[in-house]
Amino acid sequence: MFELDKILRSHLKELEPYSSARDEFSGEARIFLDANENAIGSAITEQYNRYPDPYQRLVKEKLAGIKKVKPDQIFLGNGSDEAIDLIIRAFCEPLEDNVIILPPTYGMYKVSAGINNVAVVQVPLTADFNIDETALFAHINANTKVIFICNPNNPTGNALSETSIIRLLEQFSGCVVVDEAYIDFASHESFTRYLDKYPNLIVMQTFSKAWGLAALRLGMAFAHTAIINVLNRIKPPYNINGLTQEKALQALSNESIKNTMVASTLQEREWLIGALSELEMVQKIYPSDANFILVRMEDPKAVYTYLIGEMVVVRDRSNVHLCEGCLRITVGTRAENDVLAQKLRAWS
Ligand SMILES: *Cc1c(COP(=O)(O)O)cnc(C)c1O
Repeated sequence: MFELDKILRSHLKELEPYSSARDEFSGEARIFLDANENAIGSAITEQYNRYPDPYQRLVKEKLAGIKKVKPDQIFLGNGSDEAIDLIIRAFCEPLEDNVIILPPTYGMYKVSAGINNVAVVQVPLTADFNIDETALFAHINANTKVIFICNPNNPTGNALSETSIIRLLEQFSGCVVVDEAYIDFASHESFTRYLDKYPNLIVMQTFSKAWGLAALRLGMAFAHTAIINVLNRIKPPYNINGLTQEKALQALSNESIKNTMVASTLQEREWLIGALSELEMVQKIYPSDANFILVRMEDPKAVYTYLIGEMVVVRDRSNVHLCEGCLRITVGTRAENDVLAQKLRAWS
């Protein structure tokens, strides 16, 4: 059974968080002389002289409606990267605890654990890129605090077994992080619908992919309020800057634009799969629930280098276990995909 108090690092239970000026007074006032801001204004036309809302209330309120969660089930981070780091720092004692990842997967889980001096236990996916449940349960020990599951998975592009993840949520007494960076491109529903059922579930999403706002650096984590409170206590006070909060709020009012871009990306994904499948050099195109496809070919390194010479960059994943022979190709615009297809036709 999951008990937050059992996995929270003990020194954090006593920690007195930084109390910002905006924590101590967040109401209406005429004159703010409490935060040593520049009262005159900003050195640019737009005014950014005031500290932003440390809890991003307006963004969360709007986001809660769209994601069908409560505002206090939302944490916002400086990219998903920040959420990954804070989750590890909240629950994993360096040199003592471990996290489990299921490679081939997103690289930041391992890097972030490494930075925090936390051991990483790797339980590879099966050959068809699914969760090896028997191996996974066998690798969980008393010091396993967090399991990272990327769904749909990067770099393979596929969705993982929902029943396996559910079994994990029910039987593992630590946190299960389901990273849904690509959920908008997937045919399955988000795990956010299980938030009320599983207190150990953390769902991560991002503004970097479907919303098209990678430069803003804004990641979302959805979880039970108790977990959100922990993340809020240990985050840098003003982790989401004011400009990002404004732009995110604007984007959330334009959900239909996001949906149109997703629909177009899905069409392009099919077009690209069609174009690539006609090439002799292509051995296998893996099914994708994301905005990229994993493609196995005869000589991936030569193709990669050739494409670079043609000013087209894809991701070489051929050194990654289970992705031998593979390039990962992001779905571009029709014009970009067409250039890629032409260049590949010219090569083979
Ligand atoms: C792109 C991606 C993210 C997004 O990270 P940000 O820091 O929010 O830009 C998160 N997880 C996975 C698996 C990704 O591929």
